[in-house]
Parts: sequence; C-alpha cells; structure tokens
Amino acid sequence: MSNKIIIIGSGPAGWTAAIYASRALLSPVLFEGAEPGGQLTTTTEVENFPGFPEGVMGPELMKKCKEQAKKFGTEIISEFVEVVDFSSRPFKVTSKGKVYEAETVIISTGASARRLGLPSEKALYGHGVSACATCDGFFFKGKKVIVVGGGDAAMEEADFLTRFANEVTIVHRGSAFRASKIMQDRVTQNKKINVVWNSEVVEVLGADVGRVTGVKLKDATTGEIREMQTDGMFTAIGHEPNTALFKGVLDLDERNYIKTIPGTSQTNIPGVFAAGDVQDAKYRQAITAAGSGCMAALEAERFLAKNE
Ligand code: NDP
Repeated sequence: MSNKIIIIGSGPAGWTAAIYASRALLSPVLFEGAEPGGQLTTTTEVENFPGFPEGVMGPELMKKCKEQAKKFGTEIISEFVEVVDFSSRPFKVTSKGKVYEAETVIISTGASARRLGLPSEKALYGHGVSACATCDGFFFKGKKVIVVGGGDAAMEEADFLTRFANEVTIVHRGSAFRASKIMQDRVTQNKKINVVWNSEVVEVLGADVGRVTGVKLKDATTGEIREMQTDGMFTAIGHEPNTALFKGVLDLDERNYIKTIPGTSQTNIPGVFAAGDVQDAKYRQAITAAGSGCMAALEAERFLAKNE
C-alpha cells in the first residue's frame, strides 16, 4: 500500500514536517539517513532557538523533536535512502533494496561540511583533521590547533576549541572575516586565539607519521609558502547540500541546492517538496529549517486533499 507522505532526512526540517503531518493523521514515514538529527548533532549549545532562554544542546533538541514526532505516530526508519523514482505517482523510494511508495515526498536531507579537497587532508582525516570541533575537540587537550575559515562557524569552532587546546589559530584566506560582529568579538576577546590572515592551507603535513604535525600555508598576496606547526586542523568553510540522490531527478540550482518555487516548498515535480538546508543556501538556521518543514507538511496535506 502506498504511504501518504515519506520524509527523507531527520534534521529540524524533517522532524517538523513529521510532527505536522502526523498530527494531521497522515501517518508519515521518515527515513533518518546517514547522520540522524543532522548538523545540530555536531554542534554544542544552540542559543538562538526561540523558547530556550538558557540555550539547548543541539543533540538534545533533535532528540526532543524525534520524541514529539513519534508521539503523534510518525513511523521512523533508521536507514539511508539509496534511490528515488519520481517519474510517476505513487513515487518510489528505495532503501536496503526495499521499495516504499508514497503519494507525496518531503526532502529534508540538509547539507554537509565542505572540505578543502587536498589529498593530504583526506589522508589525515580522523588523524588530526576534522570538520567538527564538538566531535573531536576533546582529543586536543593541551595541544595546538588551527581552524580554517572566516565565517560564524569558524569563530564558533575556534572559541569552542579553546576549552581544550592551549593555542588556537584561525587561518583565513581573506583579510576580513565575514562572521557576525558578536562572533568576531568573542574571538578577539579570547586570549588563546590568534589569526593568520590572507593565507591558504595548501598541504597538511604528517602523513608519514600518521598524524597531523603541521600545515603548509600559501600567502595570498606574495605567494610565499611557509610551514606552521600544529597538532590538528579543523575546517569550517561552509557546506554542500546533500542532493546527490536528486541529480537528474529534480531541478537543482548552480550550487546544487534543490530549486523550490519562491515562497513555497514545491519542487518542479508536483507532490515532491523540499525543506530546510537542502533548498536554502541563504539562512541555514535551525529555526528557518523547522519553519520550512512546517510549510512542506501543510503543502503536502493540501496536495493530498486536492488529488485524492
Ligand atoms: P560561511 O559560508 O558563512 O563562511 C565560510 C568561510 O569559509 C568563509 O570565510 C570563506 O572564505 C571560507 N572558505 C570557503 N571555502 C574555502 C576554501 N576552500 N578555503 C579556505 N576558506 C574557505 O559558512 P559558515 O559555515 O561559517 O556559516 C554558514 C551559515 O551559518 C551562516 O549564515 C552563518 O551565519 C550561520 N552560522 C551561525 C552561527 C551562529 O550564529 N552561532 C554559527 C555557525 C554558523 P571567504 O570569506 O573568503 O569567502
């Protein structure tokens, strides 16, 4: 039997869609995906989600959303969707070789951390190279680390890492941060943090000993290369939408985000909706993702009512 709604992804957008759809008695089925809870599970404290004046831990927030979705009857499948077929209704979603059918699909697969793309970065990933300070900061107690990037995420990671590391250096390719003033202030006021401007990491050193021992930096103005000793490198250089599954299936924009009709969560295929970071390169906040998850559920509900 065909499901009314399948939701792919379990971040704030997916859980909000699930809460709305299950409260509308549409019995949604939600696939949790490769990183249950999404990006919020790799952050620490969320201070800007309304309703939590004391702040809330990202993983805790996602756990509560899951409980809420479950309470109203969302069926949760802890698997990763491998193939989708939206060529005709009912739509088909395949996981572990099993095909699930649905009248509508809400995509909330989010985005993932971008990498520098260096072979040495890849070789030392998990051996001193990381894109998640919350996950790996603990391993750098008393050590020296660098953070690559100049946005809010880089400021946040650098600040967080000073809990463990003795010295944190932000390496930024530009001469000014794009981070918000409040985040920049936090960094400049933290005595454990210093900044290296106009510099690009061109190689991570230490592959021969199996752990990061330093980086090679290229000066953006002079082109000069120099080495810097470090025990770890954290990258915080933005994100890529998780849309590999939808290439050639749905319309994507030039940065591979799913295109939605402005002011809606509708994709180019009627009955397929997209919510959260997978379709939002601009705001990328937990609260905007949750808001668009709500929109997608309401739109799916209306679509079902109209097409039944
Ligand atoms: P951003 O896109 O804002 O910043 C990415 C940074 O990485 C830029 O400084 C960019 O440099 C740099 N960068 C990109 N590619 C490379 C590369 N290949 N090599 C070196 N540097 C590179 O991403 P963020 O993840 O920081 O933030 C995303 C969104 O999330 C923003 O809207 C931000 O405000 C929000 N956010 C908010 C937080 C908060 O308020 N607590 C915390 C974290 C994120 P350049 O500047 O030269 O382009």
